[in-house]
Amino acid sequence: MRYISATYVFDGKQFLDDRPVLVLDDNDNFVEFRRSIKEKVEYYEGIICPGFVNAHCHLELSHMKGVIPPKGKLLNFAKEIITKRRSFSKEQIQTGIEEADKLMWENGIVAVGDISNTPDTFEVKQKSKIFYHTFLELIGFDPEQALNVFALGKELQRGASRADLKNSLVPHAPYSVSEPLMKLISKDVLDTKYPVSIHNQESAEENLFFRKKDGDFVELYEFLRIPIDHFKPSGYSSLQTYLAHMGVCKNLVLVHNTFSSKEDIEFAKKLHDEVYWCLCPNANLYIEDKLPDLNNFLSETVRVVIGTDSLASNHSLSVVDEINVLLGDFNRVKIADVLKWATYNGAEALGIETSFGGFIKERNAGINHLSYSANHLKLERKIA
Ligand SMILES: [Zn+2]
Repeated sequence: MRYISATYVFDGKQFLDDRPVLVLDDNDNFVEFRRSIKEKVEYYEGIICPGFVNAHCHLELSHMKGVIPPKGKLLNFAKEIITKRRSFSKEQIQTGIEEADKLMWENGIVAVGDISNTPDTFEVKQKSKIFYHTFLELIGFDPEQALNVFALGKELQRGASRADLKNSLVPHAPYSVSEPLMKLISKDVLDTKYPVSIHNQESAEENLFFRKKDGDFVELYEFLRIPIDHFKPSGYSSLQTYLAHMGVCKNLVLVHNTFSSKEDIEFAKKLHDEVYWCLCPNANLYIEDKLPDLNNFLSETVRVVIGTDSLASNHSLSVVDEINVLLGDFNRVKIADVLKWATYNGAEALGIETSFGGFIKERNAGINHLSYSANHLKLERKIA
């Protein structure tokens, strides 16, 4: 048995009063909290909290660390990913994946919502100590190709299921998935009760394209030789256009939200009960050099989660590094808020809150020891 306590104990939702002692069994599964205890207690100066949940990652892009120069904007970033991601050997790709999986574990991450366009990561995820929910992400803006793209997605899904990975088919982004493909995906995932993710409003150009069919996206489609004659601008932001025909899935994880307005957030709330707003601040700085306006997200009814995105658009895969950007940028954010986003909210978004994101009976959901000073968190060590 282990008996663990700290100056501050955060249980995934809040700081607990009276410094309770966590009792763990010999496999580090949580047994109970105790207020008084005779046994010797492992005591930590600082904060202890459950293992982190990284709600958005692309493990399969890990080999692209440092390949794309920062601050080149989303359109350039997309072009670089498309043209360069396969210009590496199988070994380089696999080594990147293995190292990134290890890195996340060392960084106190116990569960990940991970995007896959390919089966490259399946074997590593199957063997990993980390729990992965795999978002099998489909891309296809040509409506004529919807059935083909969906069939390829189903094939990828069979591979993920054979590797015992929890998974769901998801759209990449509003500007890269046609309406018919969006409908096929929504219908498919409705039956599963699994979460759905979509990259949302990552650039100002995305909103411009949906409002007026104008801007850099028009050029991107030309570059990719994708016909856009079928697309009619709506006069509204991207979110307020696509969400209506997405259907209501179980949990919807909107990723980035760098250019989401208060009206967008209200709109999403009305249409969908279970929306999670995933912030990936380091990737936002890397790609667009702009952060979402946190004022819009600091409400009891807005559920925020934290993602690292990939090593193609980040220097590390660390939830603590993401939190520190938010704390540094915005002094209204409380430590209890960001820790909840990084633990319980992330687990709830992925539908795994009975196993992760808290101290849960008969479960080992990880325990991290953190120190905190001058608006800065540091992971001291993983305790369990
Ligand atoms: Zn992403």
